[in-house]
Amino acid sequence: MSVLRLILADQLNYNHSWFNKIDSNVVYCIFEMRQETNYVKHHIQKVVGFFLAMRAFKNHLECLGHSVIYYRISDSRNSHNLSENIIQLISDLKITQFEYQLPDEYRLDRQLIELSEQIPIPTIVYDSEHFYSTREELAEFFKGKKQRVMESFYRYMRLKHGVLVTEEKPIGGKWNYDNSNRNKWKEDTLIPIHYSKPRIVDKLIKELQVLDIATFGQIHSNTFEYPINRIEALEQLKYFNSNLLKHFGDYQDAMHSREVNLYHSRISFALNIKFLAPKEVVDSVVQTYHTTDIDLNQAEGFIRQIIGWREYMRGMYWAEMPEFKVSNYFNHKGALPDFFWTGNTKMNCLKQALSNSLDNAYAHHIQRLMVIGNFSLLAQVHPDLVDNWFLGVYIDAIEWVQITNTRGMSQFADGGKIATKPYISSGSYIDKMSNYCSNCTYNKKTQVDEDSCPFNSLYWNFLIQNKELLKNNFRMRMMYSVLHKMTDVKKAGLINKAQQILSRINEF
Ligand code: FAD
Ligand code: SF4
Repeated sequence: MSVLRLILADQLNYNHSWFNKIDSNVVYCIFEMRQETNYVKHHIQKVVGFFLAMRAFKNHLECLGHSVIYYRISDSRNSHNLSENIIQLISDLKITQFEYQLPDEYRLDRQLIELSEQIPIPTIVYDSEHFYSTREELAEFFKGKKQRVMESFYRYMRLKHGVLVTEEKPIGGKWNYDNSNRNKWKEDTLIPIHYSKPRIVDKLIKELQVLDIATFGQIHSNTFEYPINRIEALEQLKYFNSNLLKHFGDYQDAMHSREVNLYHSRISFALNIKFLAPKEVVDSVVQTYHTTDIDLNQAEGFIRQIIGWREYMRGMYWAEMPEFKVSNYFNHKGALPDFFWTGNTKMNCLKQALSNSLDNAYAHHIQRLMVIGNFSLLAQVHPDLVDNWFLGVYIDAIEWVQITNTRGMSQFADGGKIATKPYISSGSYIDKMSNYCSNCTYNKKTQVDEDSCPFNSLYWNFLIQNKELLKNNFRMRMMYSVLHKMTDVKKAGLINKAQQILSRINEF
């Protein structure tokens, strides 16, 4: 028996049971491929991060004594197509069995199913041993139910896995401390420097340039700061627990121009390529809660993101693909504004959020949702274009978690399968949660003046235009009752102002 085992770029799980035993009949394969660098245009730090992590993983496996075939992006044997690389290896190495772990992306899942039907040898599929839930668990949990609300799945997960519960009840008496987690950061707490592990990566950048791999975004002084192996990821997690968790919940929804990361963990890259298991992340936070004086709202707020939102998004992805990828509830057709690629806009909130994304391949949740996503929806950008941008720009962007958050939660393109209402706001929410408006060209208080905040008229215009699609949504009732009280003249002024903005969007 000669076995070929495939490891995908986001399957760098150091603790996978595959690696418990050294077997001379097994050869692992890992490929850097144009198939993966080219399906959308990626941020330079995303490509660098994945390649460094994959190369480190290969070294780790070889140190343990495993046999690994690794194709670099510049390797002459590399066909840059997953199926072709595997077919060639099966033939060259006289492989008798092909094995892979369940991919997290629909696209790769299909490709591997088709490949296994095409090759003349048996294929065995393994679990990736990463998530708390299986692919189908969410669909089974919600079977027969009208609504698939995250909160009920989250409570089920807490109970099932015994996280912050005692005798089937939540510790502290409440499942959710969201109400305590909506503070604006007023420069009143000290924010520790974030964990970073800068390393020079100029050789790899040159390699990518020579091969003409298209990327965008910045990489400062050719250094890369995210963890590239499990040891560094564990250090980052430890740093979060010791330094940032204590205020995570408090300022979860806050934004600030100087402290761009606030108390966020920035572990999404390490989690999504599987250096860290969600269970060990959750266990470490529970342990910090029990052994230090941090408040319950900090720990619960964080744990909800991991066993709540992250598992929920994965379950929804597998329940809804592939139809989800073409959903466009509002039939939006607009272009993505040019400033998404440069950060060059007079709207300070967008300038801050886009610059953070382009400089660091990162933005925290509220920047993604309530600034960039909010604006994309109000500006009626086609969800395909929004998806492609979000999939390319963030270091943690892998389709299962990107598209559910972008197309679902932020663009409501699925008509409300994921979010119970569209996440839209005028400038007042952004002002409430950040210091952006005080340094902006635009006036957050007015709606139709020359210098009025664009979010204000775009917001009401969106509600007016989509009344038929949203008026029966219970959570939109308050907004529609405000709209209902507006005079026709006022509404016409808002529509007119919004049309002016939409027709010259790149000038704002
Ligand atoms: P923290 O705020 O410290 O949260 C801890 C962890 O919780 C994160 O690392 C992440 O694993 C998990 N988490 C938090 N919120 C979510 C969520 N809504 N869905 C799933 N997991 C969550 N997350 C990605 O991992 N990849 C993406 O491509 C991605 N795209 C997004 C696009 C949009 C429009 C929005 C609104 C959100 C997106 N998210 C995505 C979710 C979230 O914004 C990021 O997980 C988070 O900002 C990562 O930073 P962090 O590690 O500092 O998170
Ligand atoms: Fe953004 Fe409007 Fe505030 Fe300017 S005034 S920062 S555009 S919300």
